[in-house]
Amino acid sequence: MSVAEKIETEGRDFIRDIVADDLASGRHRHVVTRFPPEPNGYLHIGHAKSICLNFGVAREFGGRCHLRFDDTNPTREEQEYIDAIEEDVRWLGFDWGEHLHHASDYFERLYGWAEELVRAGKAYVDDQTQEEMRLARGTLTEAGQNSPYRDRTVAENLDLLRRMRAGEFPNGARVLRARIDMGSGNINLRDPVLYRILHATHPRTGDAWKIYPSYDYAHGQSDAIEGITHSICTLEFEDHRPLYDWFIENLPVPSRPRQYEFARLNLSYTVLSKRVLNALVKGGHVSGWDDPRMPTLAGLRRRGVPAEALRDFARRIGVAKANSLVDLGLLEFSIREVLNRSAHRRMAVLRPLKVVITNYESAGDELDAVNHPDDPGAGTRRVKFGREIFIERDDFMENPPKKFFRLSPGTEVRLRYAYFITCREVVKDAAGNITELRCSYDPATRGGNAPDGRKVKATIHWVSAADSVPAEVRLYNPLFVKPEPDVANFANDLNPNSLEIITDARIEPALAADNSPAPVQFERLGYFARDRGSAPGKPVFNRTVGLRDSYAKAT
Ligand code: ATP
Ligand code: MG
Repeated sequence: MSVAEKIETEGRDFIRDIVADDLASGRHRHVVTRFPPEPNGYLHIGHAKSICLNFGVAREFGGRCHLRFDDTNPTREEQEYIDAIEEDVRWLGFDWGEHLHHASDYFERLYGWAEELVRAGKAYVDDQTQEEMRLARGTLTEAGQNSPYRDRTVAENLDLLRRMRAGEFPNGARVLRARIDMGSGNINLRDPVLYRILHATHPRTGDAWKIYPSYDYAHGQSDAIEGITHSICTLEFEDHRPLYDWFIENLPVPSRPRQYEFARLNLSYTVLSKRVLNALVKGGHVSGWDDPRMPTLAGLRRRGVPAEALRDFARRIGVAKANSLVDLGLLEFSIREVLNRSAHRRMAVLRPLKVVITNYESAGDELDAVNHPDDPGAGTRRVKFGREIFIERDDFMENPPKKFFRLSPGTEVRLRYAYFITCREVVKDAAGNITELRCSYDPATRGGNAPDGRKVKATIHWVSAADSVPAEVRLYNPLFVKPEPDVANFANDLNPNSLEIITDARIEPALAADNSPAPVQFERLGYFARDRGSAPGKPVFNRTVGLRDSYAKAT
């Protein structure tokens, strides 16, 4: 596929237009992008949008994309997160090649540039407390106040900065600030903090540093060091762009990156804030970062969502300049699109109701079931039929309303791949619960059609009682009950029914024997993937997604 064709299929957006223009005009010969996660949590589907954009643009335009850990805050960052992020980006289908970088690789250079700013009178050490600095920063309508330490001499600033670095002062005692303009209309330019004192062990640099650079100071300079041409970030950083440019203009950096902002992904019934996701994990609201209800890539993967579905989703939502809320149904749509094509079909019964076929005499009978209706190459398998089978409790009603066409007393239905059966008798326990149906079958309908041409109005799925295997099936619903959960009080909006565990489902033997994590379609029920917590003889399946947009109906 040519670059032009590729871009056509991936879709065009304002970022891709800018990149195409920059290449056409000769401003850049190669496009270099980066994905810069802070390793303070697992990646979520919002990050997937950013990854697909950054790595996608690089791939389509023949450039490269770096994975850079923005590891400037050792108090929140952990090796577990670093490992998980690398695994997730790879799983999503992208490769950074040799370009795995860390902001911490540049600590020495960043520090050297900070001294240069001090020497040029463009940075100073401030002794104000955090509270004093906050009060002096002003508001959107009011200018800030100059710090009383703003006019320290270069010599004094250099001395203090070096002593900060040497670890002479406790956390919070001083900061290094850029000396820009306390009266600027843009609060980000009111003498932003470049370095803070932090006596903390860093996963990579250990105890070498007692001061750490701020995000704003580290980010653009790291971009410049790596030769990033297009530094693509979310809209919250739009107001930081003048500061990004100020550093680039005032420092002898080796290249001139530019920042572009796009709208972050917001997804209904979902929270995409690492702070909240972390609180969900720490608070025990979910079983971990990879709980299948989590919007993390690890959670989605465990749930059975294919990486291809996330790439498809990213393509469909596109890249815009204005924030919006994407319907969760759109994600489900992408998942169904991919799984409908790829998932093999199997039969499972979630809430079994026993059916005895009273006139069935044969000792054993095997029927052919197709693995994929649109893909003959996927082949067929044999499923065992018998005198006793299980059907879905929902597929029977003793007193059905008019439009109910499935099994009821006296009606005839088709058992998928097998026979027509007619319900003759309903057996109940002392409490009046239905415990069993007694049905008759028509041997002439083997394979699912009647030689006399008579029709039935419904086909239901089933498993054989003798050969099916018990399984646990976990059904998931959105974690939150509101389309836009209140992030500040997220616990109030949690869905108490986000997880439903069925412990006594029955699955056909072919499913029990297969250890593959690849999702399958349980016919008529949805797509399900084997959980990594399955034990031999005790399979556990996660519902990836239902067959229809059930979630839209529920709202
Ligand atoms: P936090 O929630 O802690 O503020 P973050 O989600 O911004 O963090 P980062 O690790 O800083 O996490 O994100 C890495 C990259 O992913 C950034 O470039 C950020 O803009 C992008 N990103 C984060 N969330 C989204 C989102 N919802 N949609 C699109 N891109 C996102
Ligand atoms: Mg961030």
